[in-house]
Amino acid sequence: AQIADSVGLFRTEYMFMDKAVPPAEEKQRKVYERVLEAFAGKDVILRTVDIGGDKDYPAFDLPREGNPFLGLRGIRLCLKRRDIFKTQLRAALRASAAGHLWLMLPMVSGVNDIRRAKLIIGDVKRELASEGVHAAPDVKVGVMIEVPSVAVIADIVADEVDFASIGSNDLCQYTLAVDRMNPGVAEYYEPFHPAVLRLMKFAVDAFTRRGKPIGICGEMGGDPLAAAVLMGFGIRKLSASPDALPGLKKFIRTHSIAEMERCAASVVNLPTGGEIKEFLERHIEF
Ligand code: PEP
Ligand code: MG
Repeated sequence: AQIADSVGLFRTEYMFMDKAVPPAEEKQRKVYERVLEAFAGKDVILRTVDIGGDKDYPAFDLPREGNPFLGLRGIRLCLKRRDIFKTQLRAALRASAAGHLWLMLPMVSGVNDIRRAKLIIGDVKRELASEGVHAAPDVKVGVMIEVPSVAVIADIVADEVDFASIGSNDLCQYTLAVDRMNPGVAEYYEPFHPAVLRLMKFAVDAFTRRGKPIGICGEMGGDPLAAAVLMGFGIRKLSASPDALPGLKKFIRTHSIAEMERCAASVVNLPTGGEIKEFLERHIEF
């Protein structure tokens, strides 16, 4: 809690994955409350369960799918299995009085997902209120931008949510049509591909113009070279694993925003991810 200014991505599915039954509401509430208390006065972005894709969960007895990364994953699963979603929302909202809770929806591909999820969140709040439990009034609801469709309509999406975080791992996977787990196509997995960067820039511009917070998570959030470009686009919230934080902070403290803006403006017009990376390595001193 000391070295981070907030929690940028609390991957709640890890609480579910190796269990024979899903964690009960009260158990989840205690975990969420502990995290909110540990980060008192700081924002905690709790991502609702992102099961499916590479993250299987035997206890849910999910259907076998030919393409699990394009299947019943993240918010899609939660909208089908409302019992799981509602239990998690009840636990999170009951814990919300302990700190600054931000709820983030994964694998959102369009506005329908957002509206459906928000209706359920509203239902759960009313249900709790009727039991005499009041969620904190300032709980924010946002989305991950990790499916290209939602990046392309980021201007529309920004009007429907309080905030967003770019999920760089999946945005790269889905934009480039490359399975992030398959070593056979690893060379196609290029986070600096101009298509990926342009989508990110569009999303950052759309949210920034509306005064809504947008951050980045996934591997690029902890990579100083990527951070330079993203901060050059206007991102001010970076989420990284704890071991990446010291290097990232040192990098940010020793480089000016003007320098990052110059780099960002140059790279979006380069033709390949390789050339973009090379440009950054040549122009940014460590
Ligand atoms: C991402 O996709 O970038 C992300 C942060 O989520 P995950 O890696 O858990 O899919
Ligand atoms: Mg993801």
